[in-house]
Amino acid sequence: MAEPRTLPESDRSRLRRKRERGSHDRDVIDAVLDEGLVCHMGFHVDGTTFVVPCAYARAGDVVYLHGAVANHMLGALSGGSAACLTVTLLDGIVLARSAKHHSVNFRSVMLFGTARPVTDADEKRAALAAVVEHIVPGRGADARPPNDEELRATKVLAFPIEEGSAKVRTGGPVEDPADLGLAVWAGEIPLRLVAGAPVADDGLSSAVAEPAYLRGGRFDPAPSGKVG
Ligand SMILES: Cc1cc2nc3c(=O)[nH]c(=O)nc-3n(C[C@H](O)[C@H](O)[C@H](O)COP(=O)(O)OP(=O)(O)OC[C@H]3O[C@@H](n4cnc5c(N)ncnc54)[C@H](O)[C@@H]3O)c2cc1C
Repeated sequence: MAEPRTLPESDRSRLRRKRERGSHDRDVIDAVLDEGLVCHMGFHVDGTTFVVPCAYARAGDVVYLHGAVANHMLGALSGGSAACLTVTLLDGIVLARSAKHHSVNFRSVMLFGTARPVTDADEKRAALAAVVEHIVPGRGADARPPNDEELRATKVLAFPIEEGSAKVRTGGPVEDPADLGLAVWAGEIPLRLVAGAPVADDGLSSAVAEPAYLRGGRFDPAPSGKVG
């Protein structure tokens, strides 16, 4: 039987608040990383704390980040700055009878670590392909891959998935019992990210058909049936 895959709990990755919502299970963590489109990288450099949103892709035990060689964040991270990566999926707005107990349903991941610059050309190509494929599954086989010059102009980092946690909230409001009889609507407004119909680029030849991969999976108007 396969060993359960969990991240070891560290002092900073141990959930203290609402501990029961936390998890160090790699399946939970990976599912959030694989569904998200944007991560936020938090790091501290030259006396300032930055939180920078960026695209990413998970491949095995790392999250790949990329950008221009001159990118400030990638420069700081490749210089060894400790960093914190978060991904948040917002699943619903929770309305309670009392103002205090309003909440949100979510799945989120927080990872701690130090990124490794990716210098090997093959790993760099694979990482960039993974980012494209993560955002638009199926696109990797279609788009022109980066040439040598583009590869040189792009910095790629691998952020380890070795310390961190997931946190998940589901369900309706958690009310004070005394409020349950109030005549105030309570419940959840489910939320999900929905893709619109693809809009072809102005200069696109009519001979180029819309690829089938733009009409399913991530771009399905009702993905996974999770939210009604
Ligand atoms: C969309 C969204 C909105 C939120 N809004 C609020 C809000 O308005 N007020 C509020 O108090 N909280 C909110 N939370 C929860 C918030 O992220 C924290 O979990 C909570 O505030 C407890 O923080 P803490 O520093 O006391 O956590 P602690 O339990 O002390 O954190 C210890 C460790 O637990 C892990 N951890 C904590 N939070 C998360 C997380 N969200 N995801 C993954 N790992 C985590 C990390 O490894 C962290 O280092 C929100 C979460 C999300 C995703």
